[in-house]
Amino acid sequence: MEANRGNILYLVVPCYNEEEIIELSIGRLKEKMNRLISEKKIDGRSKVVYVNDGSRDKTLSLLHVAAKEDSSIAVISFSTNFGHQSAILAGMMFATDHADMVITIDADLQQDIEALDKFIEAYMHGNEIVYGVRNDRNSDGFFKKLTATMYYKFLHVLGCDIITNHADYRLMSKKALKVLGEYKEVNLFMRGLVPTLGFKSDIVYFDVKAREAGSSKYTLKKMVKLATDGITSLSIKPLHLIIGLGFATCLFSVLMAIYIFVDWLSGNTVPGYTTSLMITLIMNGITLLSLGIIGEYIGKIYMEAKGRPRYIVESIVFQKEDEQ
Ligand code: UDP
Ligand code: MG
Repeated sequence: MEANRGNILYLVVPCYNEEEIIELSIGRLKEKMNRLISEKKIDGRSKVVYVNDGSRDKTLSLLHVAAKEDSSIAVISFSTNFGHQSAILAGMMFATDHADMVITIDADLQQDIEALDKFIEAYMHGNEIVYGVRNDRNSDGFFKKLTATMYYKFLHVLGCDIITNHADYRLMSKKALKVLGEYKEVNLFMRGLVPTLGFKSDIVYFDVKAREAGSSKYTLKKMVKLATDGITSLSIKPLHLIIGLGFATCLFSVLMAIYIFVDWLSGNTVPGYTTSLMITLIMNGITLLSLGIIGEYIGKIYMEAKGRPRYIVESIVFQKEDEQ
């Protein structure tokens, strides 16, 4: 165990339209934090930072009520919905100045909070990053299970350094967070970005439960956006694949031209309608797909070039504890 590791923990909890479950979560996290403090696993100045990602329901007012009664609760509120990845980033960047370690966890507490002890232990053993990895995907539906498994496999094929089944339940030390703060990219895919930082790291396994209240805030649209952001922010291999595809079709065209020429020499001129239609359709398909992929990257470059803020904070409720 490393001596003198500070143990002020900030939990970062992104919240988007979570009015059905937020009070339950606040209570459970409070209880867990108190337990960790009384067991001397974390410092008494530890806090839970809720990041309201532009909720349109009562989430923010419920958070403000809780923060008023309890100085260990901080609330950061965005001006509008910037997405889960921006919300956790904002919470982490805020916490960097005050905490020794930060753990991000979803507001619905589907991820087992009893695993927090293991995260802290791994940090105390000198790890700068600790990845939470789910034990199984039994709480997911068939579609999510299948697409998630295929997606992680695909990212590995593209050469991305991503940890299978690690979502955003993660501990980062102050040191790692300071480095993360230097990354200015707008297209955020935290679970792909963090492993590229390096540092000594460890994995903690945890169980995932079904949501107790409310529904998933990840619509199919948000999920597809996250998945494409993941690919385009981590890898340019799809562009290389297009070049490969281009070469292959060129070669195919030359062979086809020779075949047609030989066919013509032997006097067959009229047939071939099906073949030519098929080739036209396939070629158009390939061309449009390739343009689409290139366009996706150009779009990303465009957004990065604008350098717009990744989130806009409208208000912060935070009581700094005096140094002890
Ligand atoms: N979330 C967010 N902004 C969004 C969508 C989701 O901050 O635009 C938060 C949400 O409140 C929750 C976490 O991200 O704390 C994970 O979302 P959810 O539980 O709905 O996703 P799922 O578990 O279904 O993948
Ligand atoms: Mg969830």
